[in-house]
Amino acid sequence: MVPAFTISERTQHYLALEEQYGAHNYHPLPVVLERGEGVFVWDVDNKRYYDFLSGYSAVNQGHCHPKIIATLIEQAQKLTLTSRAFHSDLLGEYAAFITHFFGYDKVLPMNTGVEAVETALKLCRRWGYMVKGIPENKAKIITCSNNFHGRTLNVISFSTDPSARQGFGPYMPGYEVIPYNNLPALENALQDPHVAGFLVEPIQGEAGVMVPDEGYLAKARQYCADANVLFIADEIQTGLARTGAMLCCDLEQVRPDILILGKALSGGTLPVSAVLADDEIMLTIKPGEHGSTYGGNPLGCKVAITALTVLKEEKMAENAAAMGQLLRDELAALQSPYISLIRGKGLLNAIVIKHTDPEAAWDLCLALKEQGLLAKPTHGDKIRFAPPLLINAAQIRECVGMIGRSLERF
Ligand code: PLP
Repeated sequence: MVPAFTISERTQHYLALEEQYGAHNYHPLPVVLERGEGVFVWDVDNKRYYDFLSGYSAVNQGHCHPKIIATLIEQAQKLTLTSRAFHSDLLGEYAAFITHFFGYDKVLPMNTGVEAVETALKLCRRWGYMVKGIPENKAKIITCSNNFHGRTLNVISFSTDPSARQGFGPYMPGYEVIPYNNLPALENALQDPHVAGFLVEPIQGEAGVMVPDEGYLAKARQYCADANVLFIADEIQTGLARTGAMLCCDLEQVRPDILILGKALSGGTLPVSAVLADDEIMLTIKPGEHGSTYGGNPLGCKVAITALTVLKEEKMAENAAAMGQLLRDELAALQSPYISLIRGKGLLNAIVIKHTDPEAAWDLCLALKEQGLLAKPTHGDKIRFAPPLLINAAQIRECVGMIGRSLERF
């Protein structure tokens, strides 16, 4: 197998600090980063790496994008937080901007991704009672197996991943989990008149970039419309140009009833998330019924406008589509016996490792790190390849060279 690598004393120092004083709720690769620019990050020993995770797709625009950072600094020197007790000169401007950008009546701004998911679920239930007429406390939301929508107690209540759930019960009722990419199961679940919504990831990122069959999203959307059920798309990871379109749903001309965004909405600078919907849904929540101290803060609003503008101006969706295809083609050309599957859309991709050793994907990521490429295994044998969206063809080829050399070490 892959030989063990030495870790510098400097790196060891930071690893030890985290180990001793930080909660052990993550298992990172042993690399300590201190700088980033575009598709690259540098560690504390000044070694340069291609970032093939992009902060779990929060850094679509590239590390420290100059326009986003300039906006951040400028606004940080002016006004950062008002709370929603008062108005700011930016919330309205941002709301107008993002609703026109995505074509919805209203936005509800939050911070982290999971907060936006919670918001969407609350909106869905409220709509179910106030508009659809579901009897009180009977609303049901359909979700998919192997989903990942975040880590709150409510959201893990419908997770099927034992490591996300076990030992955290009791769980929130009101959810039905059906298999992903399974239209008959959805059709069947929609028979229940108490169903208010269907929450789905257009591609399941955390599950290992599970791409559903072509037509799944469009059909699922139609089934929901026919059943008077809200189609809720969690585009926190798939959205914002990552999969080769501004939204992954755009690839099938699907317009969700509720759209959830996060991550790259701030280009990796601060937590900014958003829920978009039309008035019939959004206006079911009244003052005092939902909110967050930081949600809609002027700093986040201003940064989000620039982050979205950069995606469009720099044609990042188009680049993601072209570079993603090149990446998959070049990976296939490696013809490695250790890659059993290459899948993805745009620059959200994964390979599945074929090896008798269950640690093979982790070991491959260590080997990639030595080569100068950072990626992280997910669910054992899968490795996600999701670089910032400004990567170019020469860089893709260089990276595939690194992947090929790392595979040869097996
Ligand atoms: N939904 C999806 C599809 C995600 O990929 C993630 C994070 O990876 C989340 C929700 C949760 O976002 P956050 O970690 O910002 O709460």
